[in-house]
Amino acid sequence: MTLPYRTLERDWDVIVAGGGTAGAIAGIAAARTGARVLVVEAQGSLGGTGTNAWVTPLMRNVSGGVNLNLGLTEELKGRLRARGDGAVDEAGNDNWFNPEGLKFVLDDLLLEAGAEVLFHTQVVAPLVEGQQIQALVVHNKGGLQALRATAFVDATGDADVAAGAGVPMSAGDEDGLHQAMSLRFTLSGVDTSRLRNFLTAQGQPQTSEHFLHFWMVWGRHSTLEPLFRQAVAQGVLLERDGDYFQGFSVPGRPGELSFNCPRIRPDLNDGADPWQLSEAQLDGRQAITRLSTFCRTFLPGCEAAFIGVVAPMVGIRETRRIEGEYTLSVEDILDCAKFEDSICRNHYPVDIHSVKGGAKLLHERDGAAPYFAADAWHEIPYRCLVPRGVSNLLVPGRAASSTFEAQSSIRVQQNCHSMGEAAGIAAAWAAQQHAGQVRMVDVGALQAELRRRGALV
Ligand SMILES: Cc1cc2nc3c(=O)[nH]c(=O)nc-3n(C[C@H](O)[C@H](O)[C@H](O)COP(=O)(O)OP(=O)(O)OC[C@H]3O[C@@H](n4cnc5c(N)ncnc54)[C@H](O)[C@@H]3O)c2cc1C
Repeated sequence: MTLPYRTLERDWDVIVAGGGTAGAIAGIAAARTGARVLVVEAQGSLGGTGTNAWVTPLMRNVSGGVNLNLGLTEELKGRLRARGDGAVDEAGNDNWFNPEGLKFVLDDLLLEAGAEVLFHTQVVAPLVEGQQIQALVVHNKGGLQALRATAFVDATGDADVAAGAGVPMSAGDEDGLHQAMSLRFTLSGVDTSRLRNFLTAQGQPQTSEHFLHFWMVWGRHSTLEPLFRQAVAQGVLLERDGDYFQGFSVPGRPGELSFNCPRIRPDLNDGADPWQLSEAQLDGRQAITRLSTFCRTFLPGCEAAFIGVVAPMVGIRETRRIEGEYTLSVEDILDCAKFEDSICRNHYPVDIHSVKGGAKLLHERDGAAPYFAADAWHEIPYRCLVPRGVSNLLVPGRAASSTFEAQSSIRVQQNCHSMGEAAGIAAAWAAQQHAGQVRMVDVGALQAELRRRGALV
């Protein structure tokens, strides 16, 4: 069956599918080379998981006291702070941000760079000739249209374009199970001063009411566990609501707490399955009702709190991963592997939110491998973004080529920013100089350009 699409008269050097964590940055970076860039985004704003799934804060990725992700991620943080939507805590962690503020910052950066964006548009399928993608068929209020470009970046997180182009994929762990999904939410109207005093008295000491962080996971010695036990006994919570509970404060939003939960029912773990994704939305909202009741009932300072935001997107940690020219493994991480074509440095640990139970923060810094040294890091090669079998596509972000364990380490936002920045420049150069062929990009020159833009590669 051929799709009844309309081909637009216009074309671009680079089309970025998905304007999320990696994709928005890819669009900005590509446009800064002077390329004609279009970012196609399903939602009505940029930022993806970082904005529409309300995932805060940016995970720290520091080695030897140095933040490993600089370049555009550093610029973002500066812009957020200038708006009052980003903050540095007493410990020097500069990764706190307000997701709503990030939407504005990304709009500004993208438009200033000269890129275009098409919101409320779903990428349906690539049109492929031989090994070259010619266009993306998209769907929006205008119906089905084909948008043409010379090079493409698939930053959909689920590798939708690569999957449609026939790139071989991996997905999930050895049993095909994915990491848990979460539907994040906020509580507004919190007396954070009282909550801070309570948490501190409970043995979760807080440095300031503006940077609250508290958590409970069954069996991990959280001092809040007895409260959760009580709430389960009283029928306020289900047992599984204690599989992962974590709250944070949010800069620029006094009196509000953002929760890295609820975790979605374990049998609903495939975010690329539309039926599971839809049911996850319902399951998540039911859990939010329970958790907000718990907070109001059991946490002093939350008595008058109300649900502020339910994230528009379910938070998806892992679905499809491309098979690229190189597949990053956990051994690469533990051995601090360095690569000639490195485009990003990482020291964030393997962090698996397993649906098989609990949260696994593997390889914490007490082992013998080189990785555990405080000043260690490993690198992510450009080849992890280059999918097999397609000549003019790059895939940055959580779908980059990596094993299940390695993906759980490199997937954090700042690494997605760095991968996006490299992919954007490389796709633009591929379009401008090599008829879209991403394997022909001079990676040494790419590294030099990334350094010129402030990155650490
Ligand atoms: C619950 C949760 C908690 C996390 N906690 C942290 C944390 O504390 N700190 C941290 O740094 N990282 C955290 N992470 C990891 C990190 O947020 C993600 O791995 C990262 O944001 C993924 O970036 P991405 O660019 O690959 O995908 P996304 O940011 O999800 O971007 C994908 C974009 O593509 C769009 N899209 C998808 N399909 C299509 C399509 N077919 N057509 C058009 N558009 C499409 C989406 O709308 C979205 O905007 C967490 C993740 C989750 C889910």
